[in-house]
Amino acid sequence: RPLIGVLALQGDVREHTAALEAGGARVLPVRRQSELADVVGLVIPGGESTTISRLLETFELLEPLRARLAAGMPAYGSCAGMILLAEKVLDGRPDQHQLGGLDMIVRRNAFGRQVDSFEEDLDFADIEGGPVHAVFIRAPWVESTSPTVRVLATVPETPTAGAAAGRIVAVRQGSVLATAFHPELTGDLRVHRLFVDIVRGA
Ligand code: GLN
Repeated sequence: RPLIGVLALQGDVREHTAALEAGGARVLPVRRQSELADVVGLVIPGGESTTISRLLETFELLEPLRARLAAGMPAYGSCAGMILLAEKVLDGRPDQHQLGGLDMIVRRNAFGRQVDSFEEDLDFADIEGGPVHAVFIRAPWVESTSPTVRVLATVPETPTAGAAAGRIVAVRQGSVLATAFHPELTGDLRVHRLFVDIVRGA
């Protein structure tokens, strides 16, 4: 079972840890450079991207993490984690840092202030066994991608989707995976299993 890190500075660390363990990995919470060096893949949880960005500096993890991503470490970012992995963010704070890894532009808090959260069933490429129930909480969406980024899921055209219909909400580039939603909250392990498989194959 591969040793996968969960970046444990802020956000829903516990839920990702449980999902990874149930999905076939061993888990190490990562707060220090030495812990980052020990893991073969990393999950960046949902939370608040501006806060996680600031804490990455405080904990002196920003450059080490950028270096590991540039060297090909598999990573999975959920919601705030997706924002951090994107090359560029729209509606971010001016001082918020990007880790890179996904050659795309995300829009932070894209689904609108009045609609804080919503849920949709998504067809998810690379995942079998029916749609994935997606919980979005003040989520980003992917505004645009380079051709190297593969789109895995978009919001379907449903009456509840509104302006979100058609928006990209799950992507993969090489060993880096990201979802705008939170599979760690639904008990559906398929996205975490997909990431564990990516780590095993890397
Ligand atoms: N809105 C948050 C941000 O900007 C993300 C929310 C989440 O991770 N659930 O980082």
